[in-house]
Amino acid sequence: MRNFPPERIRPGNASNANLKGDYILYWMVANRRTRWNFSLQRALDWSRELRKPLLIVEPLSCDYPWASDRFHQFILEGMIDNANACQEKRIDYRAYLEPKRGAGDGLIEALAERAAVVVTDDYPAFFLARMLRRATHRLATKCELIDSNGLFPMAATDKCFVRAYDFRRFLQKNLPAHLIDLPDAEPLPVPEIGGTVTLNGSIKKRWPEIARPLSKVSLEEFPIDHTVRSVAFTGGPQAAEGCLERFLDQRLDAYATMRNLPEEKSSSGLSPYLHFGHISSHYIFDRLMQRVAWSVEQLADSTTGARSGWWGVDENTEALLDQLVTWRELGFNMCSHRNDYERFSSLPDWAQKTLRQHAKDTRPYLYDQDSFDAAETHDPLWNAVQRQLAQSGEVHNYLRMLWGKKILEWSESPQEALKIMIHLNNKYAVDGRDPNSYSGIFWVLGRYDRAWGPERPIFGKIRYMSSENTARKYRTAGYLEKWGG
Ligand SMILES: Cc1cc2nc3c(=O)[nH]c(=O)nc-3n(C[C@H](O)[C@H](O)[C@H](O)COP(=O)(O)OP(=O)(O)OC[C@H]3O[C@@H](n4cnc5c(N)ncnc54)[C@H](O)[C@@H]3O)c2cc1C
Repeated sequence: MRNFPPERIRPGNASNANLKGDYILYWMVANRRTRWNFSLQRALDWSRELRKPLLIVEPLSCDYPWASDRFHQFILEGMIDNANACQEKRIDYRAYLEPKRGAGDGLIEALAERAAVVVTDDYPAFFLARMLRRATHRLATKCELIDSNGLFPMAATDKCFVRAYDFRRFLQKNLPAHLIDLPDAEPLPVPEIGGTVTLNGSIKKRWPEIARPLSKVSLEEFPIDHTVRSVAFTGGPQAAEGCLERFLDQRLDAYATMRNLPEEKSSSGLSPYLHFGHISSHYIFDRLMQRVAWSVEQLADSTTGARSGWWGVDENTEALLDQLVTWRELGFNMCSHRNDYERFSSLPDWAQKTLRQHAKDTRPYLYDQDSFDAAETHDPLWNAVQRQLAQSGEVHNYLRMLWGKKILEWSESPQEALKIMIHLNNKYAVDGRDPNSYSGIFWVLGRYDRAWGPERPIFGKIRYMSSENTARKYRTAGYLEKWGG
């Protein structure tokens, strides 16, 4: 086998490879793409090593929290891209869309019975993390979970970082060693390894959807939430690459100064694609750095944790890298190291303490989850943000912060606010249910932040934000006109 970064491999069980197996199975659950994908690369390495064809199975469960037309459509669009890419290279690719709850149970075990090795994606959050833990243990053949989530492998540190500054400083010292290990841009080979795998008749009988053409799929068939509608932008690796190119051509040059302006479309819009694994952060990194003809020698010697200057490139590229690498991977670090990453108890002690001390303070307004969901508060700006989230599936970062702070202020308790934020964000945001979702939501409650003064009712020492200040600082008239209802 050729060299592969060892920190990116996590054994799923203690079984050996089944040398009599018929194929290598890549169970694609998080890195839903055929380019820049360490898992696919590893599966192909096994194919070459054991001289067995590769079978890629990309499943879509209908039985996870907040499953809806919105996410099904987005994933389905990606599946079509992946099916086309594999067809071109004569790799056997099957999408499996679970038709009813529980129908997919046992499929992976059944496919693994005839597999020599199973490779799957390592992912630290949401139901996927639990499902992977359960499923991989049960397999009778060797299974590897591969981390293709970010530039810094999750397992390359034992430490869980509680401040972005510390993590940035750590990355400045430790990331360079991993920048030489990029995944292959095009791992799919010339067709020598390809070919169709003959599936067991009993598999096709019990899970007939595995042989079903994607063109015949209609969202109405699935027992998912049909009230959360598909979004106006297309999912999938092709759309993701288009989104990246438009950002590089049209907006990156003003990113550092414009990204905080809610009225401008100034950020990349890549988070939904990153979330579903339709695009790789390695690929984004590569495109950014090619553009400025960067080489690793440009990295600054000093590792002070400063937000800008370390990469040795222009301020816009530095600013984007700080979000894409420091902030994004901080969330993966948290979720991979703490099982309670989605619970109140994971907040820093100072934040828990101050929120508890102010838990009984009188709320100026009090709403329950349904009123928030229906955008029925007294605050036109808040309602507009909620409407945008519910209808379009995306919201600007600054407005997301305000959205969360007001939920904290107008909910019965901080724990209730947490529950409501998680529910609404994950129900509507295309990029929800991600390590970043928990970073953002918990940031509202003090994670990755510091204590602020003066101490206020409800918030205590937690950073405060208000719609009035937002309206003073930024132009919101156009936004209110669009989403004001
Ligand atoms: C209450 C709240 C909820 C949030 N929920 C989510 C969520 O569900 N999913 C999600 O991906 N992000 C979430 N964020 C973080 C942030 O708002 C989004 O990542 C960002 O708006 C995505 O837009 P973009 O892709 O255009 O970002 P860009 O500015 O173009 O940044 C590029 C990439 O860097 C990463 N990034 C950018 N900002 C942040 C940040 N503040 N924290 C972590 N990573 C960041 C994202 O992967 C993003 O795609 C949340 C923030 C808050 C305050």
